[in-house]
Amino acid sequence: MLSSSACSASSLPALPGVFVITGPSGVGKGTLIRLLRERVPELAMSVSATTRRPRPGETQGVDYHFISDEEFARRVDAGEFVEWAEYSGRRYGTLREELDRHTSGGHPVVLEIEVQGARQVRETLPSATQIFIEPPDEATLRERLIGRGTDDPEQVERRLKVAEEELAAAGEFEHVVVNDRLHDAAEQLESIVRGTMTA
Ligand code: 5GP
Repeated sequence: MLSSSACSASSLPALPGVFVITGPSGVGKGTLIRLLRERVPELAMSVSATTRRPRPGETQGVDYHFISDEEFARRVDAGEFVEWAEYSGRRYGTLREELDRHTSGGHPVVLEIEVQGARQVRETLPSATQIFIEPPDEATLRERLIGRGTDDPEQVERRLKVAEEELAAAGEFEHVVVNDRLHDAAEQLESIVRGTMTA
């Protein structure tokens, strides 16, 4: 069972161009978003807060706002998160101030988050466009998680277990993109995003 926590954020007014990109860890969300932003350069990226440790090569404030368990808990209590979730023993969340920074200037913004968080955004920010990224099959997901070498074997197994539950959630999402051939998937993503931005 996924451990989940209801977000205390009350419903937010409609904001211009908020794109939630979700799907299991290892599915290639990060790579796809990088390609998407090359194609749609006006898209900003929301930098999440997390209690996990930085991986080699990750930069504070760029990849994540890396914060302590205590600070995360304090900011949850202060209602500073639009959404947050516990994933594989660590907490991850989108800070309201981070989202406001982009949307107040009218800039479209992408949230790269897991499924529990996407569900919360569906409640608090129903105008956001939600896109689920799916692997072609589970074997491919396993290969990708092992192949990227960022997690030890125990973490890979934990992530795969969560991924099984996340994959079952695909049907909840308005848009599903299968990441089989990377460039085809990026093209599909671009067309969803551009379609929504001009709607
Ligand atoms: P990782 O540890 O691989 O960077 O991220 C683990 C999972 O947490 C990924 O599925 C990632 O999309 C998700 N994640 C990253 N930031 C957030 C966030 O702000 N909120 C939520 N709910 N999930 C996040």
